[in-house]
Amino acid sequence: MTNEITVRVPAKVNLYLGVGAPRPDGFHPLDTVYQAIGLYDDVTAGPADDWRVDVRTSDHVAAEALPPAGDNIVDRAARLLAAHHGVDVRGELRVDKDIPVAAGLAGGSADAAGALVALDRLWQLETPDDDLLRLAGELGSDVPFALVGGSAHGTGRGELVHRVPDEGGWWWVVVPFREGLSTPDVYRRFDQLHPDAPVVPTGPLAVLGALQDGDVRALARALHNDLQAAALDLRPELADVIAAGEEAGGLRGMVSGSGPTVVLLCGSGDEARQVAGTLAPSYDTVLIAPAPVAGAHLVVRA
Ligand code: ATP
Repeated sequence: MTNEITVRVPAKVNLYLGVGAPRPDGFHPLDTVYQAIGLYDDVTAGPADDWRVDVRTSDHVAAEALPPAGDNIVDRAARLLAAHHGVDVRGELRVDKDIPVAAGLAGGSADAAGALVALDRLWQLETPDDDLLRLAGELGSDVPFALVGGSAHGTGRGELVHRVPDEGGWWWVVVPFREGLSTPDVYRRFDQLHPDAPVVPTGPLAVLGALQDGDVRALARALHNDLQAAALDLRPELADVIAAGEEAGGLRGMVSGSGPTVVLLCGSGDEARQVAGTLAPSYDTVLIAPAPVAGAHLVVRA
Protein backbone atom coordinates (compact mmCIF):
# COMPACT_ATOMS: atom_id res chain seq x y z
CA MET A 1 0.00 0.00 0.00
CA THR A 2 1.21 3.52 -0.68
CA ASN A 3 0.45 6.39 1.73
CA GLU A 4 -0.31 3.83 4.35
CA ILE A 5 -0.87 4.44 8.05
CA THR A 6 -0.01 1.80 10.62
CA VAL A 7 -1.49 1.84 14.11
CA ARG A 8 -0.11 -0.52 16.75
CA VAL A 9 -2.53 -1.64 19.46
CA PRO A 10 -1.83 -3.64 22.63
CA ALA A 11 -3.53 -6.60 24.30
CA LYS A 12 -4.85 -6.14 27.84
CA VAL A 13 -4.96 -8.04 31.07
CA ASN A 14 -7.41 -7.30 33.88
CA LEU A 15 -5.46 -6.82 37.10
CA TYR A 16 -8.78 -6.70 38.87
CA LEU A 17 -12.11 -7.81 37.46
CA GLY A 18 -15.14 -7.34 39.68
CA VAL A 19 -18.37 -8.50 38.02
CA GLY A 20 -21.90 -7.70 39.22
CA ALA A 21 -25.32 -9.17 38.48
CA PRO A 22 -26.56 -8.60 34.89
CA ARG A 23 -28.17 -5.19 34.29
CA PRO A 24 -31.61 -4.82 32.65
CA ASP A 25 -29.81 -4.37 29.28
CA GLY A 26 -28.14 -7.78 29.72
CA PHE A 27 -24.61 -6.44 30.25
CA HIS A 28 -22.75 -7.20 33.46
CA PRO A 29 -21.57 -4.16 35.44
CA LEU A 30 -17.80 -4.25 35.85
CA ASP A 31 -15.32 -2.65 38.19
CA THR A 32 -12.01 -3.42 36.60
CA VAL A 33 -8.39 -2.32 36.31
CA TYR A 34 -6.99 -2.84 32.84
CA GLN A 35 -3.32 -2.95 31.99
CA ALA A 36 -1.98 -2.79 28.42
CA ILE A 37 0.75 -5.37 27.82
CA GLY A 38 3.46 -5.55 25.18
CA LEU A 39 1.74 -7.91 22.79
CA TYR A 40 0.36 -6.14 19.72
CA ASP A 41 -1.73 -6.20 16.59
CA ASP A 42 -0.90 -3.77 13.77
CA VAL A 43 -3.71 -2.22 11.75
CA THR A 44 -2.59 -0.64 8.47
CA ALA A 45 -4.89 1.52 6.35
CA GLY A 46 -4.29 2.73 2.80
CA PRO A 47 -6.35 4.37 0.07
CA ALA A 48 -8.54 2.27 -2.29
CA ASP A 49 -11.67 2.90 -4.37
CA ASP A 50 -13.54 0.05 -2.68
CA TRP A 51 -13.35 -1.55 0.80
CA ARG A 52 -10.99 -4.45 1.45
CA VAL A 53 -9.88 -6.16 4.64
CA ASP A 54 -6.95 -8.55 4.80
CA VAL A 55 -6.24 -10.31 8.12
CA ARG A 56 -2.86 -12.00 8.55
CA THR A 57 -2.00 -14.05 11.59
CA SER A 58 1.26 -15.00 13.26
CA ASP A 59 1.99 -18.66 14.09
CA HIS A 60 0.36 -18.74 17.51
CA VAL A 61 -2.88 -17.07 16.36
CA ALA A 62 -5.73 -19.39 15.34
CA ALA A 63 -6.85 -17.91 12.00
CA GLU A 64 -9.76 -20.38 11.87
CA ALA A 65 -11.31 -18.68 14.93
CA LEU A 66 -11.68 -15.39 13.06
CA PRO A 67 -15.07 -14.43 11.61
CA PRO A 68 -15.81 -14.62 7.85
CA ALA A 69 -14.95 -11.71 5.56
CA GLY A 70 -17.21 -8.72 6.15
CA ASP A 71 -17.92 -9.73 9.74
CA ASN A 72 -14.64 -8.71 11.33
CA ILE A 73 -14.89 -6.14 14.10
CA VAL A 74 -12.75 -3.81 11.93
CA ASP A 75 -15.58 -3.81 9.34
CA ARG A 76 -17.98 -2.67 12.05
CA ALA A 77 -15.52 -0.03 13.22
CA ALA A 78 -15.21 1.32 9.67
CA ARG A 79 -18.98 1.46 9.15
CA LEU A 80 -19.55 3.17 12.50
CA LEU A 81 -16.87 5.83 11.95
CA ALA A 82 -18.06 6.47 8.37
CA ALA A 83 -21.71 6.76 9.46
CA HIS A 84 -20.74 9.17 12.25
CA HIS A 85 -19.19 11.52 9.68
CA GLY A 86 -21.46 10.74 6.71
CA VAL A 87 -18.57 9.54 4.52
CA ASP A 88 -18.16 6.40 2.39
CA VAL A 89 -16.40 3.28 3.68
CA ARG A 90 -13.44 3.15 1.37
CA GLY A 91 -9.89 1.87 1.75
CA GLU A 92 -7.66 -1.11 2.21
CA LEU A 93 -7.18 -2.33 5.76
CA ARG A 94 -4.62 -4.93 6.76
CA VAL A 95 -4.62 -6.46 10.23
CA ASP A 96 -1.43 -8.22 11.33
CA LYS A 97 -2.54 -10.23 14.32
CA ASP A 98 -0.11 -11.32 17.00
CA ILE A 99 -2.72 -11.25 19.80
CA PRO A 100 -4.37 -14.67 20.20
CA VAL A 101 -8.12 -14.83 19.34
CA ALA A 102 -10.92 -15.39 21.89
CA ALA A 103 -8.18 -15.45 24.51
CA GLY A 104 -9.33 -12.94 27.13
CA LEU A 105 -6.69 -10.52 25.81
CA ALA A 106 -9.14 -8.27 23.92
CA GLY A 107 -7.47 -8.77 20.54
CA GLY A 108 -10.63 -8.01 18.61
CA SER A 109 -11.12 -4.86 20.66
CA ALA A 110 -7.54 -3.85 19.90
CA ASP A 111 -8.19 -4.22 16.17
CA ALA A 112 -11.37 -2.15 16.42
CA ALA A 113 -9.47 0.62 18.20
CA GLY A 114 -6.66 0.42 15.63
CA ALA A 115 -9.15 0.65 12.77
CA LEU A 116 -10.81 3.72 14.29
CA VAL A 117 -7.48 5.55 14.64
CA ALA A 118 -6.07 4.46 11.26
CA LEU A 119 -9.23 5.29 9.32
CA ASP A 120 -9.68 8.60 11.15
CA ARG A 121 -6.25 9.53 9.74
CA LEU A 122 -6.79 8.02 6.29
CA TRP A 123 -10.14 9.80 5.85
CA GLN A 124 -8.77 13.00 7.45
CA LEU A 125 -11.70 13.23 9.85
CA GLU A 126 -9.94 14.61 12.95
CA THR A 127 -12.54 13.06 15.23
CA PRO A 128 -12.31 14.55 18.76
CA ASP A 129 -11.06 12.10 21.41
CA ASP A 130 -14.37 12.10 23.29
CA ASP A 131 -16.26 11.10 20.11
CA LEU A 132 -13.69 8.40 19.33
CA LEU A 133 -14.04 6.99 22.86
CA ARG A 134 -17.84 6.96 22.55
CA LEU A 135 -17.74 5.18 19.18
CA ALA A 136 -15.22 2.74 20.67
CA GLY A 137 -17.63 2.01 23.55
CA GLU A 138 -20.39 1.22 21.02
CA LEU A 139 -18.12 -1.31 19.32
CA GLY A 140 -17.31 -3.20 22.51
CA SER A 141 -16.70 -2.80 26.23
CA ASP A 142 -12.90 -3.20 25.95
CA VAL A 143 -12.40 -0.98 22.88
CA PRO A 144 -12.07 2.38 24.71
CA PHE A 145 -9.29 0.94 26.87
CA ALA A 146 -7.40 -0.17 23.76
CA LEU A 147 -7.35 3.51 22.72
CA VAL A 148 -6.24 4.73 26.15
CA GLY A 149 -3.68 2.04 27.13
CA GLY A 150 -1.38 2.22 30.17
CA SER A 151 -3.23 1.20 33.29
CA ALA A 152 -6.82 2.35 33.70
CA HIS A 153 -9.86 1.93 35.90
CA GLY A 154 -12.89 0.71 33.97
CA THR A 155 -16.51 1.00 35.12
CA GLY A 156 -19.96 0.76 33.53
CA ARG A 157 -19.68 -2.41 31.41
CA GLY A 158 -15.94 -1.65 31.17
CA GLU A 159 -16.27 1.10 28.56
CA LEU A 160 -15.85 4.07 30.94
CA VAL A 161 -12.08 4.31 31.39
CA HIS A 162 -9.82 6.61 33.35
CA ARG A 163 -6.03 6.33 33.46
CA VAL A 164 -4.64 5.60 36.92
CA PRO A 165 -1.17 6.29 38.33
CA ASP A 166 1.18 3.38 37.70
CA GLU A 167 4.76 3.64 38.96
CA GLY A 168 5.71 0.06 38.10
CA GLY A 169 7.53 -1.58 35.24
CA TRP A 170 5.83 -4.98 35.25
CA TRP A 171 6.64 -8.27 33.56
CA TRP A 172 4.12 -10.89 32.49
CA VAL A 173 4.49 -14.41 31.18
CA VAL A 174 1.55 -15.13 28.89
CA VAL A 175 0.37 -18.68 28.11
CA PRO A 176 -2.37 -18.65 25.43
CA PHE A 177 -4.21 -21.64 23.98
CA ARG A 178 -5.23 -22.23 20.38
CA GLU A 179 -8.73 -23.21 21.40
CA GLY A 180 -10.39 -20.03 22.69
CA LEU A 181 -13.18 -19.54 25.20
CA SER A 182 -16.33 -17.65 24.25
CA THR A 183 -16.77 -14.59 26.48
CA PRO A 184 -20.62 -14.98 26.55
CA ASP A 185 -20.22 -18.65 27.61
CA VAL A 186 -17.96 -17.62 30.50
CA TYR A 187 -20.43 -14.95 31.65
CA ARG A 188 -23.28 -17.50 31.45
CA ARG A 189 -21.30 -19.85 33.68
CA PHE A 190 -20.53 -16.92 36.02
CA ASP A 191 -24.29 -16.29 36.37
CA GLN A 192 -24.89 -19.97 37.21
CA LEU A 193 -22.07 -20.03 39.78
CA HIS A 194 -22.97 -16.64 41.32
CA PRO A 195 -26.77 -16.25 41.35
CA ASP A 196 -26.32 -13.80 44.26
CA ALA A 197 -23.74 -11.50 42.56
CA PRO A 198 -24.05 -7.92 43.89
CA VAL A 199 -25.67 -5.19 41.78
CA VAL A 200 -22.53 -3.10 42.31
CA PRO A 201 -19.32 -5.15 41.94
CA THR A 202 -16.63 -4.75 44.59
CA GLY A 203 -13.79 -2.33 43.84
CA PRO A 204 -10.06 -2.63 43.24
CA LEU A 205 -8.51 -0.51 46.02
CA ALA A 206 -5.58 -2.83 46.77
CA VAL A 207 -4.64 -3.08 43.07
CA LEU A 208 -4.75 0.70 42.63
CA GLY A 209 -2.53 1.14 45.71
CA ALA A 210 0.02 -1.42 44.48
CA LEU A 211 0.19 0.29 41.07
CA GLN A 212 0.69 3.68 42.68
CA ASP A 213 3.50 2.28 44.88
CA GLY A 214 5.04 0.23 42.05
CA ASP A 215 5.06 -2.70 44.49
CA VAL A 216 5.12 -6.00 42.60
CA ARG A 217 4.56 -8.22 45.63
CA ALA A 218 1.56 -6.16 46.75
CA LEU A 219 0.21 -6.29 43.20
CA ALA A 220 0.66 -10.07 43.09
CA ARG A 221 -1.36 -10.39 46.31
CA ALA A 222 -4.10 -8.05 45.06
CA LEU A 223 -4.70 -9.56 41.59
CA HIS A 224 -8.30 -10.74 41.35
CA ASN A 225 -10.63 -12.02 38.65
CA ASP A 226 -14.31 -12.73 39.39
CA LEU A 227 -14.54 -14.67 36.08
CA GLN A 228 -11.72 -17.03 36.98
CA ALA A 229 -13.91 -19.65 38.71
CA ALA A 230 -16.21 -19.75 35.66
CA ALA A 231 -13.30 -20.06 33.23
CA LEU A 232 -11.72 -22.84 35.35
CA ASP A 233 -15.05 -24.61 35.52
CA LEU A 234 -15.15 -24.66 31.69
CA ARG A 235 -11.41 -25.44 31.34
CA PRO A 236 -10.20 -27.17 34.56
CA GLU A 237 -6.71 -27.77 33.12
CA LEU A 238 -5.98 -24.03 33.37
CA ALA A 239 -5.55 -24.48 37.14
CA ASP A 240 -2.57 -26.74 36.37
CA VAL A 241 -1.01 -24.04 34.18
CA ILE A 242 -1.35 -21.49 36.99
CA ALA A 243 0.19 -23.93 39.48
CA ALA A 244 3.06 -24.81 37.11
CA GLY A 245 3.79 -21.12 36.49
CA GLU A 246 3.85 -20.31 40.19
CA GLU A 247 6.06 -23.30 40.86
CA ALA A 248 8.43 -22.08 38.14
CA GLY A 249 8.81 -18.78 39.99
CA GLY A 250 5.88 -16.60 38.86
CA LEU A 251 4.71 -14.46 41.79
CA ARG A 252 1.05 -15.03 40.95
CA GLY A 253 -0.84 -16.63 38.09
CA MET A 254 -4.36 -15.89 36.99
CA VAL A 255 -6.79 -16.29 34.10
CA SER A 256 -6.79 -13.19 31.90
CA GLY A 257 -10.32 -11.73 31.66
CA SER A 258 -12.67 -14.43 30.38
CA GLY A 259 -9.73 -16.72 29.52
CA PRO A 260 -8.41 -19.13 28.55
CA THR A 261 -5.03 -17.31 28.53
CA VAL A 262 -3.09 -17.69 31.78
CA VAL A 263 -0.90 -14.74 32.78
CA LEU A 264 1.82 -14.83 35.43
CA LEU A 265 3.10 -11.71 37.13
CA CYS A 266 6.88 -11.95 37.60
CA GLY A 267 9.33 -10.05 39.80
CA SER A 268 11.54 -8.80 36.93
CA GLY A 269 12.32 -9.31 33.24
CA ASP A 270 14.94 -11.92 34.17
CA GLU A 271 12.46 -13.81 36.32
CA ALA A 272 9.91 -13.70 33.49
CA ARG A 273 12.48 -15.18 31.08
CA GLN A 274 13.27 -17.91 33.59
CA VAL A 275 9.59 -18.78 34.15
CA ALA A 276 8.92 -18.75 30.41
CA GLY A 277 11.94 -20.99 29.82
CA THR A 278 10.68 -23.51 32.38
CA LEU A 279 7.15 -23.58 30.93
CA ALA A 280 8.14 -23.53 27.24
CA PRO A 281 8.68 -27.30 26.78
CA SER A 282 5.17 -28.05 28.13
CA TYR A 283 3.03 -25.58 26.15
CA ASP A 284 2.65 -24.62 22.48
CA THR A 285 3.19 -20.92 23.11
CA VAL A 286 4.74 -19.05 26.02
CA LEU A 287 5.25 -15.30 25.60
CA ILE A 288 6.82 -12.53 27.67
CA ALA A 289 5.26 -9.09 27.81
CA PRO A 290 6.29 -5.90 29.64
CA ALA A 291 3.64 -3.52 30.96
CA PRO A 292 2.20 -0.96 31.03
CA VAL A 293 2.49 0.08 27.38
CA ALA A 294 0.82 2.73 25.24
CA GLY A 295 -2.67 2.39 23.77
CA ALA A 296 -3.34 2.65 20.02
CA HIS A 297 -0.47 4.64 18.50
CA LEU A 298 0.86 5.48 15.07
CA VAL A 299 3.94 3.57 13.96
CA VAL A 300 6.30 5.99 12.31
CA ARG A 301 8.50 4.31 9.72
CA ALA A 302 11.96 5.65 9.00
P1 ATP B 1 -12.41 -9.94 25.30
O1 ATP B 1 -11.27 -10.13 26.26
O2 ATP B 1 -12.62 -8.51 24.85
O3 ATP B 1 -13.67 -10.64 25.66
P2 ATP B 1 -11.22 -11.93 23.70
O4 ATP B 1 -9.75 -11.65 23.74
O5 ATP B 1 -11.71 -13.02 24.58
O6 ATP B 1 -11.97 -10.60 23.95
P3 ATP B 1 -11.30 -11.59 20.85
O7 ATP B 1 -10.00 -12.10 20.33
O8 ATP B 1 -11.48 -10.14 20.93
O9 ATP B 1 -11.63 -12.28 22.24
O10 ATP B 1 -12.42 -12.28 19.94
C1 ATP B 1 -13.75 -12.40 20.37
C2 ATP B 1 -14.63 -12.78 19.18
O11 ATP B 1 -14.63 -11.70 18.23
C3 ATP B 1 -14.16 -14.02 18.43
O12 ATP B 1 -15.26 -14.91 18.39
C4 ATP B 1 -13.81 -13.54 17.05
O13 ATP B 1 -14.24 -14.44 16.03
C5 ATP B 1 -14.52 -12.20 16.90
N1 ATP B 1 -13.70 -11.22 16.14
C6 ATP B 1 -14.15 -10.33 15.26
N2 ATP B 1 -13.15 -9.59 14.74
C7 ATP B 1 -12.02 -10.02 15.31
C8 ATP B 1 -10.65 -9.65 15.21
N3 ATP B 1 -10.24 -8.68 14.39
N4 ATP B 1 -9.77 -10.29 15.98
C9 ATP B 1 -10.18 -11.26 16.84
N5 ATP B 1 -11.44 -11.66 16.96
C10 ATP B 1 -12.37 -11.06 16.22
